[in-house]
Amino acid sequence: MDVQVVENSPFARLARMVLKSKNVAMVLGKKVHLSGVSKEVFLKNDGWVAHELCHVEQFRQHGYLRFLWLYLVESMRVGYYNNKYEVEARLAGMKHTQHLAAVQKAASTVKPIELPLPAYKRET
Ligand SMILES: [Zn+2]
Repeated sequence: MDVQVVENSPFARLARMVLKSKNVAMVLGKKVHLSGVSKEVFLKNDGWVAHELCHVEQFRQHGYLRFLWLYLVESMRVGYYNNKYEVEARLAGMKHTQHLAAVQKAASTVKPIELPLPAYKRET
């Protein structure tokens, strides 16, 4: 997927004002527009990236203008939070972080004391 990240985007700044949010990432086609957050910080947040990549996929599925229209209609109908495209993207982001949490949990349950003893100690 050839996705571009645009920093200091005027589109994202507008969305930031509308959503009254400190930092915003918004997808237009294959571009992730950022405002209030650097590309570096955004890319480190795997859950957030997964969320925005889900929107890229939605644009791909429905077509650029058609998706913009569908998204707008859906937002007017049920609002931003309950917008089905946001729900889908939120799930994609959460699935990612849940997966990550499970991996971290598994890693933290390995206690050094449970590790196999070095061979020379087992011989005795
Ligand atoms: Zn979203």
